Amino acid sequence: MIPVQGYENQTVAVLGMGRSGRAAAKALQAGGAKVIVWDDGPTGRDAADQDGFDLVDLNKAGAFDGVAALIVSPGIPHLYPAPNPVIAAAWAAGVPVDNDISLFFRSFATDDWNGFDTMPRVVAITGSNGKSTTSALTHHILAENGRPTQLAGNIGRGVLDIDPAHDGEVVVLELSSYQTDLARALTPDIAVLTNLSPDHLDRHAGHGGYFAAKRRLFAEGGPDRAVIGIDEPEGQYLANQLAGSLADDRVIRISSGQKLDQGGWSVFARKGFLSEYRKGRQVASIDLRGIAGLPGAHNHQNACAAYAVCRALGLGPRGIEAALQSYPCLPHRSQVVGQRNGVTFVNDSKATNVDSAAKALQAFKSIRWICGGLQKEGGLDGLLPHTGSVQKAYVIGREAESFARDLQGVDAQICTTMEAAVAAAAADAQHGEVVLLAPACASFDQYDDFEQRGDAFTAAVQKVVSEG
Ligand code: ADP
Repeated sequence: MIPVQGYENQTVAVLGMGRSGRAAAKALQAGGAKVIVWDDGPTGRDAADQDGFDLVDLNKAGAFDGVAALIVSPGIPHLYPAPNPVIAAAWAAGVPVDNDISLFFRSFATDDWNGFDTMPRVVAITGSNGKSTTSALTHHILAENGRPTQLAGNIGRGVLDIDPAHDGEVVVLELSSYQTDLARALTPDIAVLTNLSPDHLDRHAGHGGYFAAKRRLFAEGGPDRAVIGIDEPEGQYLANQLAGSLADDRVIRISSGQKLDQGGWSVFARKGFLSEYRKGRQVASIDLRGIAGLPGAHNHQNACAAYAVCRALGLGPRGIEAALQSYPCLPHRSQVVGQRNGVTFVNDSKATNVDSAAKALQAFKSIRWICGGLQKEGGLDGLLPHTGSVQKAYVIGREAESFARDLQGVDAQICTTMEAAVAAAAADAQHGEVVLLAPACASFDQYDDFEQRGDAFTAAVQKVVSEG
């Protein structure tokens, strides 16, 4: 745990008693703060009670008297679609509203560091898609090359739950827009933007608000090095804003598809090969095509981002290449979960939006596509140009019929359940084809989360495979 510094003997309120809220409350207590907590739901309040926290209803008048700060969980919308009443009361009372990410950045450095040979560093990774893969891959490369490293943030382990840093350690943090939006301190050594496509529009009042939330990681913190995906205009804009010129190597530009050889520092992937250029010259090249854990151009973009981070941390290309080869891939992201008669079954349940599903569809040549669920804002227009490799769609979800209707030009069968979809796709699939779960939708109409949906797919695949 990282004890929170700066609030000794002061009262700090924590709103939201989920995983990160409880971790924040404990870390604040460990740092000597007097902690009061609240959750609008009974489950959160029960959890707080069990942990022995002091529950105070923050909706009551005067609740913020004498409170030094309000720490808010990322799951609670603060401003859009409507201001949260407790957070609005803190604003009105002049109490700073903050989150656990910010507490981490304020508390990470300690006096122990005076005895270290190499200062610990923090790499913070954001973007619309590929955050988890890029974070896990960066962590894997560092570990394989013998660097002390810890992985935390949106990927599962709370930032305040990690161990205090060792000499030379690199902490890799995956940060969502919800987390970067609210943090008052955001000071990574290296900041990464993988890419940007519309998502969470309600929460950020549109695409501009969404980009602004992510941009804070670069604008507020002034990282020593920024690794930026420039395949969208927002990435181009951000890279331009941070760099004095193209030659300014505080910015490493990355791309999947574009050749970036015009000067400065760049890493890009084209036709399955990763290239690093510096000052107009190629300094390294890696063949990514046979790497089982990183299929498709979208994963090659993630490989470029992780490679760039590791190069900025002083690793050599050959050590990075060896670690890319052994990357095991995360569950529910391009994960091969079965094979039968030359047909491969791939679980990409994490493809919850149109852009990520479009990328998954481009990663394989001939696809039996399982899709559908709870559609996000924006419709399927971004997906339809990328369905060329789809032999047939097998549509799941409560609204399977309307989803199938929207898939214009694609042969679609309404299956509704995962079991029916896997059985139908497996029966139709020819040798060499891929049965791909890439829903392009949230899972909440049928499942608790994308993990449960991916597990249902895997179980159905195992059944089909065991039947031979
Ligand atoms: P995040 O943490 O940003 O959601 P993940 O690494 O978990 O990213 O990947 C989420 C989904 O997005 C995956 O299922 C995959 O289909 C897709 N994806 C992964 N990397 C990229 C990328 N660089 N660009 C677009 N889509 C991607």
